[in-house]
Amino acid sequence: MSQIRSVDARLFEIPLDEVLVDAKHGDHFHFHLITATVTLEDGRSGTGYTYNGGRGGHATKAMIKHDLAPFLVGKDANDVEGLCDEMDWHMHYVGRGGILSFAISAVDIALWDLRCRALEQPLWKVAGGAGKTCLAYGGGIDLAFPLPKLLKNIQGYLDAGLEAVKIKVGQPSEAEDVARIRAVRELIGPERAFMIDANYSMSREQAISLARAVGDQNLLWFEEPIIPDDYEGFAIVGEEGGIPTAQGENLHTIHEFKMALAHGNLGFLQPDASNCLGITGWLRASELAKAHGVPVCSHGMQELQVSLVSAQQHGGWLEVHSFPIDRYTTRPLVIEDGRAVAPDAPGTGVTFDWDAIEEFEVRGD
Ligand SMILES: [Mg+2]
Repeated sequence: MSQIRSVDARLFEIPLDEVLVDAKHGDHFHFHLITATVTLEDGRSGTGYTYNGGRGGHATKAMIKHDLAPFLVGKDANDVEGLCDEMDWHMHYVGRGGILSFAISAVDIALWDLRCRALEQPLWKVAGGAGKTCLAYGGGIDLAFPLPKLLKNIQGYLDAGLEAVKIKVGQPSEAEDVARIRAVRELIGPERAFMIDANYSMSREQAISLARAVGDQNLLWFEEPIIPDDYEGFAIVGEEGGIPTAQGENLHTIHEFKMALAHGNLGFLQPDASNCLGITGWLRASELAKAHGVPVCSHGMQELQVSLVSAQQHGGWLEVHSFPIDRYTTRPLVIEDGRAVAPDAPGTGVTFDWDAIEEFEVRGD
C-alpha cells in the first residue's frame, strides 16, 4: 500500500511567442499549464499535468484541489487504473467528458510517474515497450499566417529535423486553402508526409469539396474536417473526399472513442493524454485503435506522448504541437533522423523547470 498524503495543483499562464490562430478556437495569446503533484505518506512524489488553449485552467485546478484531492487522500496510489475510474464516477454527474477529463488526466499522469519511478523504468517501457522512437510531424497553428510566413514556418520544421508537417485549413474561401496546400507541397517536395486540420470548422459538403480539390496533393490525413460528434460524417468525408480522416483531441471518454472508431472509418486516432483521462485513458483508446487496425497517434504534449506513441506496436505519428510545454522542462523533445526519441529517465521523463515557470503561476483559487 502506497497511501496518498496530498495532491497539490498549480496553474501557470504561459505566454506564446506570437498569437496563434486556428479555424474554431479564436486567438491564442497564451496557454494554461495545470500541474498535479501527488505525494505519498512515505515521502515519494510524482507529477502530472494537463494544458489548454488559455481558457479553463482555473476550473481545472479548482476541480483537482476541491474535489479530486480530498477524495484521493488515504487511497492506494498503486491502483492507478482503479483510481482513474473512481475519480471519473466520483465527479461524473457534473464533469463527464469536460473539465473533469483534464483534471483526472493531470492526476493520472502523476500516478503513472510514481508507478514508473517505483519500477525504475521509463514510461515507454512500462506503457508497452514496443520501441523508444516514433514518427513525428510539425503541427502548425498557422491559419492566420500570410503565405510567406506559413512557408517560413514550415521551413522551420524541416530545419529542426522534422520530415512531416501539418497546416490548418478553414480559410474564408476554398481557393485560399487549396493555394496554401499546393504551396506547402511545392516547398516540402512530393514525398514528405503532409496533413491538414480544419478544427471541425466545415460542413460535410465543404470538407468533401476541399478534399477533392487537393486530391492530387498526396495528403496523409484530413484532421477534424467536421464536428467531432458527427461520427458517421467522418466515414462519409473520408469515402467521398478520398483522404483518410483523423480525430481524437476532442474525444474525452472511452465511449466517444468507441463510437468514433465504430462509425467513423478513421484512418488515424489521435488521443491526447492531457484530456482523455491521462495515460490510463490514452492506453485504453490505443487498445481500441489496435482492435480496429488504426494507427494510434497523438495530439499535443509531445514531451510526454513521445513515450506513449513509441511504446505501441501500432504507433503512428507524434504531433509536435505549437504550444511549447517542453521548453519549460529539463528535456525538450529530441528529434533524431526525423524521429522523436522517448526519454530513458525513470518516470514519465517530463520534469518541469519550476524556476523557469514560477513567474507565470496564477495563485489563489
Ligand atoms: Mg488538431
